[in-house]
Amino acid sequence: MTMFDVKNIRKDFPILTREVNEKPLVYFDNAATSQTPQQVIDVIVDYYQNYNANIHRGVHALSQEATDKYEQARLKIQKHFNAAKAHEIIFTSGTTHSINIVANGFSAILKKGDEIIVSALEHHSNIVPWQMLCERTGAVLKVIAMNQKGELLLNVYDELLSDKTKLVFCNHISNALGTINPIKEIIDKAHEVGAAVLIDGAQAAPHLVADVQALDVDFYTISAHKVCGPTGAGMLYGKEEWLNKLPPYQGGGEMIAEVTFEKTTYADLPHKFEAGTPNICGGIAFGAALDYMNSIGFEAIAAYENELLEYATQKLLEIEGLKIYGTAKNKTSVISFNIEELHPYDIGSILDKLGIAVRTGHHCAQPIMDFFNIPGTVRASFCFYNTKEEIDVLVAGVKRAKNMLL
Ligand SMILES: *Cc1c(COP(=O)(O)O)cnc(C)c1O
Repeated sequence: MTMFDVKNIRKDFPILTREVNEKPLVYFDNAATSQTPQQVIDVIVDYYQNYNANIHRGVHALSQEATDKYEQARLKIQKHFNAAKAHEIIFTSGTTHSINIVANGFSAILKKGDEIIVSALEHHSNIVPWQMLCERTGAVLKVIAMNQKGELLLNVYDELLSDKTKLVFCNHISNALGTINPIKEIIDKAHEVGAAVLIDGAQAAPHLVADVQALDVDFYTISAHKVCGPTGAGMLYGKEEWLNKLPPYQGGGEMIAEVTFEKTTYADLPHKFEAGTPNICGGIAFGAALDYMNSIGFEAIAAYENELLEYATQKLLEIEGLKIYGTAKNKTSVISFNIEELHPYDIGSILDKLGIAVRTGHHCAQPIMDFFNIPGTVRASFCFYNTKEEIDVLVAGVKRAKNMLL
């Protein structure tokens, strides 16, 4: 294996040179949002400096240029996820928006007594829209339980599946514990009973490439800000047949074919789901972010992040009283932990004073915290621009926090 040139990669990220509380920044909150490389920042600046215009409407040159770049970004995203058709890629403001489009659409399809299955590992954005959908339709929500390691119990899933199951929702990778879920198996089993499957790929996209055709997944969602892109941009992938079946989510400009006061007919895909002026710059920068990550290469990224994960796991476990939550065999570079009865927030505050950014709390996944009977965890999540030296700083910081608080 070639050496992963993290020193050079770090030069692409201007923010990594800044200080926090007079200490060099150690950024370990990558599962919440990733940092942005200069290559993507340049694309954002270029848009506003040189061709800022509304798309799809104007005859003028700037509008044409913006439209071309926006549609090129869609093609990049299509290619990255191996979608069969460009119009199966819907630009959204992020995963939450993408999931809500689907949940809203299924209001028109589900009937009382139908069943939706979600996993016990879900982010709130993948629980609440389904609960709202159940309230509107009378459908029933069922949950795939997990074990103490944070792995889903597929035998429980088997028992939940029936001809009443209409939809299955699961994340590809858990943001709270890092578990990589066996989504191919989950998808295939759902299809055997005729249910559709939405996979929330927000946490997977920074670490691996999902091939939506090979997975045969019905819907797949991601947020650009977790793959080195900007906030406020994301994707809903949907199979054409499903996107044609679902009603539009929002009404407005751009999503119509013809409007009279008597009746409106909707535009073709993807515009049917893209009402109003979209985040044009964000979509273009999203494409640039995938280019950037592909230039490093996802295999190299995964191998390096795995090294970081193993190193950090080993070093942290040397601290007496430290417990890691989420010990699945298949997991990514997320470590959720607590030390004895110490409150995660107190540990996080001391780490912040030392320039170390971690997340504390329930990570938008309260049911997981309830399962472990804890208020929350400290979560350190690593990206390909992090280093072992930074992990050493974290470990020293955690030891210091423990000494101060215990
Ligand atoms: C971040 C995240 C979300 C929510 O993404 P938004 O960008 O806030 O819409 C959903 N699910 C998982 C697994 C996540 O990691």
